[in-house]
Amino acid sequence: MRLLRFVEKGSHSEARNGRLEGEMVVTADSSLPLASVDLLAPCIPTKIVCVGRNYAAHAKELGNEVPTRPLLFFKPPSAVIGPEEEIVLPNSPLIHHEAELAVVIGKRCRNVHAEQAMDVVLGYTCMNDVSDRDAQKWDTNWVRAKGFDTSAPLGPVIVTKEEIEGPFHVMTRVNGETRQDGSTSDFIFPIGTLIAEVSSYMTLEEGDIIATGTPAGVGPLVAGDIVEVEIEGIGILRNRVR
Ligand code: MG
Repeated sequence: MRLLRFVEKGSHSEARNGRLEGEMVVTADSSLPLASVDLLAPCIPTKIVCVGRNYAAHAKELGNEVPTRPLLFFKPPSAVIGPEEEIVLPNSPLIHHEAELAVVIGKRCRNVHAEQAMDVVLGYTCMNDVSDRDAQKWDTNWVRAKGFDTSAPLGPVIVTKEEIEGPFHVMTRVNGETRQDGSTSDFIFPIGTLIAEVSSYMTLEEGDIIATGTPAGVGPLVAGDIVEVEIEGIGILRNRVR
């Protein structure tokens, strides 16, 4: 299934859950053309746990060592925006895009074994880990560098794990130009290891996100850019930068 959240265009109705079937958005009691709705972020995480340097080529491009244990940091739920919403740049000389496969947790869990990790996965979506690369130099825990409003575009849909399996082809385009083009086959730490590591420290809730790191090719975003994160088989997450 391809799960989504939406509001009807031009209405002030509440957000609703649905699934995408072809070009139709289907809910429990209605069916609407996709063109008649605005998509929202497809889940409401209580936390977004991000993995840094999970692709060797990306660690190298920023002059970092490959970690021996997953490098983890948070984005707050307030950073989430949906498809077509605007990324609002903070006051910084250097903001980067980072295309990432986002694993969506399907049920509350703790101390999950890597071999059983898929039992707690609902599915996958796209995330742009928008990053203040300048602040990363001085903001030790990356609270500001990674946590500012609009720094976590998510979507457009969650493709459930029954429909798709990796490796995933992860891309970024800025104004139509390809910037990142990688594969999760290059992960240093696979999804099972990541879920085991995170859940050994904290409870994961339904809708939580584990963002699995970005491939090489990160680069700057400036006002007016259109940035697209695409994962083959999931979709295109498109946002304008302001
Ligand atoms: Mg990242």
